[in-house]
Order: sequence, then structure tokens, then C-alpha cells
Amino acid sequence: MQEETTMVTGYCVKCKEKGVELSAPEIHQTAKGGFMAKGKHSVCGTTVCAMMSKDNADKAMEDGAKKAF
Ligand SMILES: [Zn+2]
Repeated sequence: MQEETTMVTGYCVKCKEKGVELSAPEIHQTAKGGFMAKGKHSVCGTTVCAMMSKDNADKAMEDGAKKAF
């Protein structure tokens, strides 16, 4: 069986780095019905937000991201 982990990534404003991995991501829904992941950069601890599609939000939650809406 293939093991697939959906990594939640975003832009860290402190490190000015794209695609950083979020630790303990939480999935939020925006007022416009979009989805957003919120977590901490695993390296520096800064809160990182990332917009995501519903598909990716569902996948992330299946992989253990916390549903926060
Ligand atoms: Zn960072």
C-alpha cells in the first residue's frame, strides 16, 4: 500500500521562504467559502497561513490536520 502524506505548506514571512512545512496545521474556512490552513513554521515557529482548495483541505484533514470550522 502506498503511503501518501499531504504536506501543508505556506509562505513564512519571517524566513521569506515559500513552501515551508506547517506544523500542527488547522484548516479554517474563509468567509468566502474558501479554505485556509493555519499552522506554525516547523523551523522558526512563526504562524503561517496558506490558502488551499477544498480538495487539498479535505486531504490535509484526512492526514490529520485539525478541522477548525
Ligand atoms: Zn519561518
